[in-house]
Amino acid sequence: HAKAAGGGTFTSYRPQMQEGLVERLELENDLRAALENHDLRLHYQPTVDLDTSQVVGFEALVRWPHPTRGMINPLDFIPIAEATGMIVPLGRWVLQEACRQAVEWSAAAGGRPLKMSVNVSVRQFDQPDFAETVAAVLAETGMPADRLCLEMTESVLMTDTEANLEQLVRLKALGLTLAIDDFGTGYSSLAYLRRFPVDTLKIDRSFVERLGGVLTGDTALTDTIVRLGKSLGMATVAEGIEEFGQLAALREMGCGFAQGYYFSRPVPASEAGRLFLEGADTPAEFAV
Ligand code: C2E
Ligand code: MG
Ligand code: MG
Ligand code: MG
Repeated sequence: HAKAAGGGTFTSYRPQMQEGLVERLELENDLRAALENHDLRLHYQPTVDLDTSQVVGFEALVRWPHPTRGMINPLDFIPIAEATGMIVPLGRWVLQEACRQAVEWSAAAGGRPLKMSVNVSVRQFDQPDFAETVAAVLAETGMPADRLCLEMTESVLMTDTEANLEQLVRLKALGLTLAIDDFGTGYSSLAYLRRFPVDTLKIDRSFVERLGGVLTGDTALTDTIVRLGKSLGMATVAEGIEEFGQLAALREMGCGFAQGYYFSRPVPASEAGRLFLEGADTPAEFAV
């Protein structure tokens, strides 16, 4: 970002660019080492059923505790993992660890079902053997397929090719759930919703942000997405709930599930396990 960095001409920009390249290469090497040494971690954000106010599952969100840079967020290293192809082994590790953890927590809660959502990059999805990888992880961890949800952005579904459709059908055949992440932010036509076997719409945080405000136009889009999901027989999950007003508006609209700081930030495994066990009792502050 030459402008943002204040660089006006090409010559003044170049040294910064080289610095950026060196830093990027360092990060790339560090990430490769972190992956090999099992230094990545998963945090988990609860998904709350808006009918019962119970924690019914989690979204696994990868974290990188870097030895000198501190905790690095996925938005700062997933792109590197994608560009280098590291996302394929990284994504497999995330899937494996999330499933293993879900099985463990569910067992600790006397078999109470736990839905685990895992984010999948286009680059992973495009691997010809991706469905086999998922099947292998389910078998290795003993995770029941119907408790796993794979989250993909609209960009995966935007390329309306036979290969994409076949991949989705193979994944669905395993018995798992498919969700569209950040729904409403892509520029795709809605036609793919009929063609592709998708189960869940995750309403992007940018829509939820506008709820509970004074302008009626701000609720119209969210309401429309919830209705769209309902009419297509899909579940709706709202992302990024931070305030009670947003929760109330979503309940009113009949949105099924929600995630957000209002309930809990993504938390380390130990804390998430506690949340799930306690989630059998309705936390009073979640109820309307
Ligand atoms: P996402 O899948 O849409 O995940 C939701 C993001 O919103 C998470 O950021 C979460 O911490 C944040 N969030 C949740 N509730 C709130 C809220 O109430 N307010 C605000 N302001 N933010 C909230 P995070 O963990 O930094 O992850 C960012 C993105 O990185 C994810 O977006 C996902 O696209 C990607 N990502 C994370 N883990 C993985 C992974 O294992 N594999 C892949 N391929 N991508 C991942
Ligand atoms: Mg997600
Ligand atoms: Mg999302
Ligand atoms: Mg998002």
